[in-house]
Amino acid sequence: MDIQGKFGITVLGSGSRGNASVIHGPAGLLLLDAGFSARELESRMASRGIRASDIRAVIVTHEHSDHMKGCRIFSNKYGIKTYMTSPTCSGGLRANLLPERKTLFSTGSAFELCGMKIEAFTVPHDVDTVGFVFRVGDVKLGVATDLGHLNMLARQKLRGCAALMLESNHDRTLLMNSARPIQLKRRIIGRHGHLSNDDALDSLSELLTECTGTLILAHLSGECNNPELLQKLALDRLANLERRDILLEIAKQEVPLATRWLL
Ligand SMILES: [Zn+2]
Ligand SMILES: [Zn+2]
Repeated sequence: MDIQGKFGITVLGSGSRGNASVIHGPAGLLLLDAGFSARELESRMASRGIRASDIRAVIVTHEHSDHMKGCRIFSNKYGIKTYMTSPTCSGGLRANLLPERKTLFSTGSAFELCGMKIEAFTVPHDVDTVGFVFRVGDVKLGVATDLGHLNMLARQKLRGCAALMLESNHDRTLLMNSARPIQLKRRIIGRHGHLSNDDALDSLSELLTECTGTLILAHLSGECNNPELLQKLALDRLANLERRDILLEIAKQEVPLATRWLL
């Protein structure tokens, strides 16, 4: 059983086939993305000692089904609200993924949930998508898992997080050598697609500061990435930056990670 803190993250799973994390705030638990079936969400939570009935709200980054698949059924079952932007709400409506109770937020103004101050910021992806910074006091948890490139805004928001969860989607060579259609390859590597391993690792010199203790690389492609290779490249990069002190995790598609406590 994990030692209980007051601010933390449990990655329930991440990758092209589903994304969800539990954010532990001082005043309750939040489900960040619901990209697995409700039953799968419950069993992944149980495997980390989290009761699904303790989740106070769901907050989603964008409408893609690998982030919203279980949203409607989970939110309705527990009678909780889902927080999303207006374009994500429209997309969720088209895909029949919207729960009964929802609240819209806009980017650029912070709001509070579960004792955390939450800032949503727009990131470049092929539909309206946000990244999040969750704050308790001065301590920041930053999450950006679907973005084609790290623009100035994303770099500003994600710099200096105590824990940073960042997309590291694909190895460019594996992607280009894959059997995927050329249009799909172009979409993935494009400015509104997904961050490559090189993109993610090249950003670390700017994003990591003396505040940073945990780095979680996430949303790996099942076919066009290699977790062992990424782990080695990332450890090499952290060593080059003289940041061997940072705890590195590679988020997995099939199994949750242990909870990381920031406070
Ligand atoms: Zn997406
Ligand atoms: Zn995704």
